Amino acid sequence: MKLTSFGASEGVTGSCHLLEVNNSKVLIDCGIFQGGQEERDKNDEEFGFDPASIDHLVISHAHLDHIGRVPLLRKRGFRGEIHSTRPSYDLARISLLDSANLIARSTQWKNKKLRQKGEPLIKPLYDEEDVLDVIEQWTHNEIKYNEKTKLCEGVELTLNDAGHILGSGFLAFDLKEGNDTRKFTFSGDLGNTDKPIIRDPRTPNEADFVLMESTYGDKNHVPFSQSISDLETAITETFARGGNCVIPTFALERAQELLYVLHEMWHAGKLPDDVKIFLDSPMAISATRIFEKHPDFYDKDAHELLSTGGNPFQFPPLNYTRATKDSIAINEVQNHALILAGSGMCTGGRVLHHLKHNLTRKECGVIFIGYQAQNTAGRKILRGDEFVTLYGETVPTNSEVYVVNGFSGHAGQKELTTWAEDTKADNVFIVHGDPETKVEFKQHLKNNINANNVQIMPHAKSIDLLAF
Ligand SMILES: [Zn+2]
Repeated sequence: MKLTSFGASEGVTGSCHLLEVNNSKVLIDCGIFQGGQEERDKNDEEFGFDPASIDHLVISHAHLDHIGRVPLLRKRGFRGEIHSTRPSYDLARISLLDSANLIARSTQWKNKKLRQKGEPLIKPLYDEEDVLDVIEQWTHNEIKYNEKTKLCEGVELTLNDAGHILGSGFLAFDLKEGNDTRKFTFSGDLGNTDKPIIRDPRTPNEADFVLMESTYGDKNHVPFSQSISDLETAITETFARGGNCVIPTFALERAQELLYVLHEMWHAGKLPDDVKIFLDSPMAISATRIFEKHPDFYDKDAHELLSTGGNPFQFPPLNYTRATKDSIAINEVQNHALILAGSGMCTGGRVLHHLKHNLTRKECGVIFIGYQAQNTAGRKILRGDEFVTLYGETVPTNSEVYVVNGFSGHAGQKELTTWAEDTKADNVFIVHGDPETKVEFKQHLKNNINANNVQIMPHAKSIDLLAF
């Protein structure tokens, strides 16, 4: 009975953990490595195990750092069963197709350079066809929360609501080898409390052994109510100056939460009568359609809203602009527009042309509600650079810049600690965090919960679960 981490054990992305019980192999997540070149180079490497030997793949949720290498896994021989909730399956379909598209474009760009140098060309990590094959293989896609499923001899899985994104789960395994039994729980990504639309993370059942994320293991978030009032201030100030707000938006979950909050503001009469809200991202529009299909995954507040005739995804000022010409037409709007567009860190996508049109105007506002990584245009605007390069053009940053914290999809230190405590596990292994964060969170857990054994999960080194 062994557990080995092959991803998210050195950094925060590339989640991939192998569980071996009796003679079966169960892989948990198969995410892509994201971030700097060094991280991204890992995607091409060997998995560390034979993909053809995997019997089952269980998906915690549909973020690419948890599913992004599944098509590659298949390409390299994986033919086992794939298990997830229905929203994870639906969201994975659009995320993986988008990922294949991005990979195709970056491969094309790299090959252009290689061709100029007369060097051998490279092949894409995977393509659209690989994604469609995975979708066909993904037949166990109706897993319900809190219901036990037998995967194979000695392995039973219960998926619980992790409150992170629509359909996300933490995974509780009941394991049996001979007369030995163990309860093992993998946290996946745990959500923040009080988020719109989805429910708070469920309280976990008891476990012997826990593998848990630590993305925000060293800090706490501001309360969500504070974020909403900060957002209101940013919008009100910008509209009073006669400008538009550009909000760089992540397509999955963040966009839908923003729509929910904006619907509340509109309904409460906090937005001007002539306000126009644009969701200007084909990917975010597709993700929103999936949210609309799954009200059974909403929390109580969202249900109440729907039952009283409200709908955060369909209300008068909201415009979905999928077609390019509709996106370009937004440039004509001079004021009282809320423009939600990707990419969330301004590294590409339609947000770039909206920034180009609005950044130069001092009456406009750029509102950051998500993390902006180093070396992104988003980070440069956020830190107050006077100019930023967009489409190779130098653009002055005259508009106001606002930062709204607290929209994070991840549990903060306090919630992570409570979750670990609730499992009553004696053995807690930490993954999915920056190296310093993991060290700090490990110490924090040692000081604050009753577990005897708190460790940082090693990379590619098997842990014998029966040794604990
Ligand atoms: Zn996630």
